[in-house]
Amino acid sequence: MRNHFFISCMNFFGEETPLIIIGILLFLVYLLFRIFFSFFLETQLGKKFALRFFLKDIDKVYLPYLRHNFPFYNALSDQNKVYFERRVQEFIRLKEFIPRGGISEVTPDMKTLIAGSAIQLTFGYPAIYFKHFKRILIYPDDYYSTITRKYHKGEVNRRGLIVVSWRSLKEGFVDPADGHHLGLHEMAHALRLINIINNDEYNFYDQDTMKAFDQQAYLEMAKMARGGQKASFFRDYSSTNLEEFFAVAVEAFFECSLEFREYSPELYRLLSKILKINPIAVFQTGEVSQKRYERM
Ligand SMILES: [Zn+2]
Repeated sequence: MRNHFFISCMNFFGEETPLIIIGILLFLVYLLFRIFFSFFLETQLGKKFALRFFLKDIDKVYLPYLRHNFPFYNALSDQNKVYFERRVQEFIRLKEFIPRGGISEVTPDMKTLIAGSAIQLTFGYPAIYFKHFKRILIYPDDYYSTITRKYHKGEVNRRGLIVVSWRSLKEGFVDPADGHHLGLHEMAHALRLINIINNDEYNFYDQDTMKAFDQQAYLEMAKMARGGQKASFFRDYSSTNLEEFFAVAVEAFFECSLEFREYSPELYRLLSKILKINPIAVFQTGEVSQKRYERM
């Protein structure tokens, strides 16, 4: 039967057919393996596996900056802390950090604040490292863009660049509960962008949930258009467009979680589902359980 199938295909496509079929089958097996592996990494066993075989210990030079700047990291259980640290190390290993505009060198605190923001945002996605973004440019202060003719605190673009102002980045860490966090904000932009750029991190979050989030976002933006800043829990800048709303909501999600959930349980639930994390549960228990955000 099998031979008959191959012979029929060979008649149709020519003598190369068995190789083509083997190639397609191997590719399908590879795809299945990747899908299985990304789910596996989200389990406790998967985390242990990654810690044992893939993720290297963090360079101790970064640790004080993690401890000093990331309440989210400090709230984690011991095992999750190690996991966070090693993912930060992996993020730093994968990126090229480039000093710009008078910065003479990229220092460990710069790397830690950027990598820590990325890992906090994707802590529910163990396989996501923003692979499309290979280079991170750091300016000392807000920088002038000749394209927009404005000063920027940061940006993320499709060509694979993340750009941040070091002064504004640091400011985001001063008050951990004011809902202003440039690191999380820019990484949130990057997250939305990688989901539409076709590589192996493409399409990783649930599109329907994001659509539901965007619909709610439109309602909030309409509220702000009618009633001004005071009409919404989210700061004014979020009404710029859907991308900005998402990025501003992410800042509030981690920095003012309780107030956010009280103001809009639905937006909080949707964002938890998109990011596969519930910061309130993390701050209360130190654990990241998929069931926890599903049960909210
Ligand atoms: Zn933005």
